[in-house]
Order: sequence, then structure tokens, then C-alpha cells
Amino acid sequence: MAKNKPSVIAVLSGDGIGPEVMQEAVKVLEIAGKRHNLKYELKFGFIGGAAYDRFGDPLPEKTKKLCLESDAVLLGSVGGSKWDNLPQEKRPETGGLLPLRKVMKLFANIRPLNFYEELTEISPLSSSVINKKVDLVTVRELAGGIYFSKPKYLSEDEGLDTMLYKKEEVRRIATVAFQLATRRKKLVTSVDKANVLNSSMLWRKIVNEVALEYPGIEIRHMYVDNAAMQLILNPHQFDVILTTNLFGDILSDESAAISGSLGMMPSVSLGDNTHLYEPAGGSAPDIAGKGIANPIAMILCISLMLDYTFGKTAAAKEISYSIEQIIKQGLRTPDIAMKNQKTVTTEEMGNAVCEFLIQMPI
Ligand code: NAD
Repeated sequence: MAKNKPSVIAVLSGDGIGPEVMQEAVKVLEIAGKRHNLKYELKFGFIGGAAYDRFGDPLPEKTKKLCLESDAVLLGSVGGSKWDNLPQEKRPETGGLLPLRKVMKLFANIRPLNFYEELTEISPLSSSVINKKVDLVTVRELAGGIYFSKPKYLSEDEGLDTMLYKKEEVRRIATVAFQLATRRKKLVTSVDKANVLNSSMLWRKIVNEVALEYPGIEIRHMYVDNAAMQLILNPHQFDVILTTNLFGDILSDESAAISGSLGMMPSVSLGDNTHLYEPAGGSAPDIAGKGIANPIAMILCISLMLDYTFGKTAAAKEISYSIEQIIKQGLRTPDIAMKNQKTVTTEEMGNAVCEFLIQMPI
């Protein structure tokens, strides 16, 4: 009996453009699920400002429970100026999203950069740098490092943060990166600051130890200042970028910029049990409610979920292929359009992905 039980997918649309892009992603999931015989049930929950407005709490117990009991969590985005003046524990990000990451014990954030040749014109990098498809992925340590290590304080005269890494934390994230590289171009570039920081010296030592377990994967080390430069000078040289919480935060946004829009970049955060899928961007209050948000990042989250949580690699590939094709056909939401280029709405973009998917041979 248990075998036929549908998987549970928690859907937390959140704030701003979250509900708009989620609606399109769920449509795509429905088609992909049917094509690949995925039995699932969607369970909807509230997080962020939307949850605060209803329950006075940006992460209600009911939402926590839902996420912990689900096979996967889809998250839109949280935040907006309406909630900016609330105390930290009531704000969408600090009271909703960050505690959720903790509750779910998420430790690795994986952000693939999907850059399509057709979008060269909207990339801030020149066509002499981006002359073919960029295909790289950032693996960021998410649970440790300077954001969480103690001691940490702020007084009138001093502010202190601590960057601590333990051997097991480095080993765990390095293993994720090496395993990912075995399915890709077989190169891991580990980014640290081992010429200055003790935590980076340990990082490099443990990464080298893990590398010995993967003889088919090339390992390169790069200092973070150089990595920031190399991403812009020649992004083609990377495959898997493995890095710490702080450096990953910065470098993954930098790589998102290469694609020209935050609306193109999905992410998965791996937990011990359940993974969380969310676009790299935020709630985009400047365009929320206008029906023009780019749903591609959220739709690519469905592709990641089908692959990582459900092992439906063919279904995942079909979605990314469909997106590639409709980009080739010239469909553009305003964020990825050239000046004076005709644009489509969020819904039209979602429909186009669905229509392409439906007519593909299985
Ligand atoms: P943002 O990512 O929301 O927006 C930055 C720019 O990117 C804006 O111009 C926006 O219009 C554009 N953009 C983002 N996603 C887009 C999409 N799908 N389609 C088209 N354009 C898109 O960052 P921000 O303005 O700094 O933050 C807004 C709010 O989001 C803040 O409250 C912030 O705290 C929150 N935030 C939430 C998350 C999250 O939920 N994971 C992440 C980052 C920021």
C-alpha cells in the first residue's frame, strides 16, 4: 500500500512575485508529472510576510511541520518593504526563511548557471568573453562559516563575527561537489582564502583529502579574490565551484549576473532528508503584481526537484530543453529582453513551456 502513496510536495509561494512564478511552475510540474508517472500531492503553506499577515508569525508551526513531513519543498520568495520595520524574529527573511533553513538542516546550496547563447546581448559580459554556452554550478556551504559561528556580537564600539569550519562540515560539502562533478565535466574548483585564513587552510586540506576518493575528478584551488575576477574574465573555465558560505553567497550572485537576470537562476538546498527548491532572486517588489516576472528560475526549480528528489532525470532534462527552445524561439519576459523587443507575460512564458513540453515525444 505504502508504495502507491503519492509523494508530498510542500508549496510555499511566499511574497511579492512568489505566487506569480509558482503558479507557472506548478503547471509545468503537472505536465511533467503526468508524462513521467510521478504521483504527488501538493500541500500549500504560508511563509514570510504572507504568513505574518495571517498568523502574526513568518514561520508558523504548521508550515515547519509541513516542510519536515514533505518529500520536497518548493519556495517562491519572501520579503518586502511592508515588513521591513518589524522586529527581526517577525521579519520574512530573518524570522521566516533563515529559521526554515535551520529547521530543515539545509547544508548545501547548489546553483546552476543556465546561460543561453541567445541571451548574450543581455549579459553584462561582452560577446568576446561569452562566446558559447556557460555551464557552471556553485556548491555553497550553507550551515556553517561566518554567518553562524560563535562568538558573534555587536556593541557600540565593536562588531565581531567568527569564521569557523569543522573537518566534518568541509568533508560533507566537498563530497556533494565531487559527486556532482562526476555527473558533469569532472572538474572541481575549490575557492578559499588559504593564504590568509586558518579556516581556509583547513578547508583546502580536507578538500584535498576528499579529492583522493575521486581520482576521476580534477581538483583546482583558487583564492576568492582571483575567483571573482576569473568568473568575469573567463567563466568557461569552471565546472563545479565549491566554496564556503560567505564566498558562495557572493560568487553565486556574481554568476547569476552573468546570465543577465536573477529570474533565470534556480537553486536547490540539500538537507539531511528533504531538499528545498527556490529561485536565486528575491520577491522583486518592483515588479510584483504586474504579471511580468520571469518564471524560468522557478520552473527550473521543478527540473532540479525532479532530478534531485525524485530521480526523474529525463523529465528534468525535458523541462530545461523546453526552456532552451522557447528562448531560441525568441520569447522574452522584460528582464531578458533587449530594448524595443516584444515581451511576454509571466503566464505566457509559463504556457509556452507547457505547450512545448506537451508536444515533445516521450
Ligand atoms: P530581488 O532579487 O527581489 O530583486 C533584484 C532585481 O532583480 C529587481 O530588479 C527584480 O525586479 C529583479 N528580479 C528578481 N527576480 C526576478 C524575476 N523572476 N523576474 C524578473 N526580474 C526579477 O532583490 P531585492 O530587491 O534586493 O530584494 C527584494 C526583497 O526580496 C527583499 O525583501 C529581500 O530581503 C528579499 N529577498 C528574498 C530572498 C528569498 O526569498 N530567498 C532572496 C533575496 C532577497
